Amino acid sequence: MSEPDAKRGTAVWVSRAGLNQLIANLKAQGYQVVGPRIADGAIVYDAIEGISDLPSGWTEQQEAGTYRLRRRDDDALFGYNLGPQSWKKFLHPPLLRFFAAERNNGELRILPSTEPAPRYALLGVRACELAAIQVLDRVFLKDAFVEPNYASRRRDLVVIAVQCTRAAPTCFCRSMGTGPAVRSGFDVALTELGEGFVAQAGTERGEQLLGSVERAPADEELIRQAQEAVEQAAAQMVRRIETQDLARRLQEALESPHWDDVARRCLACGNCTMVCPTCFCTTVEDTSNVRGNRAERWRKWDSCFTESFSYIHGGSVRTSVRSRYRQWLTHKLSWWVDQFDMFGCVGCGRCITWCPAGIDLTQEVSKLVASG
Ligand code: SF4
Ligand code: SF4
Repeated sequence: MSEPDAKRGTAVWVSRAGLNQLIANLKAQGYQVVGPRIADGAIVYDAIEGISDLPSGWTEQQEAGTYRLRRRDDDALFGYNLGPQSWKKFLHPPLLRFFAAERNNGELRILPSTEPAPRYALLGVRACELAAIQVLDRVFLKDAFVEPNYASRRRDLVVIAVQCTRAAPTCFCRSMGTGPAVRSGFDVALTELGEGFVAQAGTERGEQLLGSVERAPADEELIRQAQEAVEQAAAQMVRRIETQDLARRLQEALESPHWDDVARRCLACGNCTMVCPTCFCTTVEDTSNVRGNRAERWRKWDSCFTESFSYIHGGSVRTSVRSRYRQWLTHKLSWWVDQFDMFGCVGCGRCITWCPAGIDLTQEVSKLVASG
């Protein structure tokens, strides 16, 4: 097998053994490689040792309020779409200890968290998920207030993207302009074809990673097949949101009676915010031991669907489910545009699949806009 130097933007063919080698090389460089694997009846993201941990031959069936693992009729490693977890759990963890305080013989000591940030290599990042990381970057890294915990996890992040070659019925990234083709924000992008991958480096580090594994030139036919596979995923997408002038149109629909209709179905469970790759809200909790000489301050994910989330002195601002659903949806698709100059939704469809009431953001938006 000839091994030309991998160049940024130059496609090469990498076998499964080559991908395994790439994972091993990342681990040897001190990265914790996290990728898709099966746990609790779903495809989740967790630490992996090699390609034997990947969900070979598995896919999923999903619709509004429904998710089931299904066997494929081949042994594809990335033949699924999205599960309930997003990469945000590694970059913006659900639970984070800020500091502890101890009192001994009347002396108070503050113990800051000194654990170094993990060095993550993410394997299997889809186009909409790359867009979600860019949204989190905008929120946590830009302007005056940089979130240091996110920044430390993001600094040395390696991203191995995988292009979608099929779409789930809940996907609508195409209409949000975030997929299914992977365009930027990755070190290496893979398109799975049979027993290997068409691979492309997006950064100098990606070139080095591809340069360290066995590879061959990808000929025009392989590149055409890879493009066709991604186009097929785009053509399969049935859901969409019309984004033209959407921020303004939703603001005109703030008093629509359709909010009451959604509120009658919504359980205010907050699932949609937990699975969303861009929802970033948190709360702070203090805990103490029973002896009363040690306390800890923790940050944990919160949801705008809880009544306590909008609590200020004297009570909560958003006491009705109507007001909370309206806050969530208009923040994602309207106020976020004012605040961050981008949508807070990347069209991953997780909030549709994992809503126990089967509430479908795309349908609610089109009804709200029509009623505004
Ligand atoms: S709002 Fe729903 S579809 Fe949009 S990014 Fe969040 S989970 Fe995905
Ligand atoms: S929209 Fe669905 S997932 Fe979100 S809070 Fe309501 S019932 Fe729960």
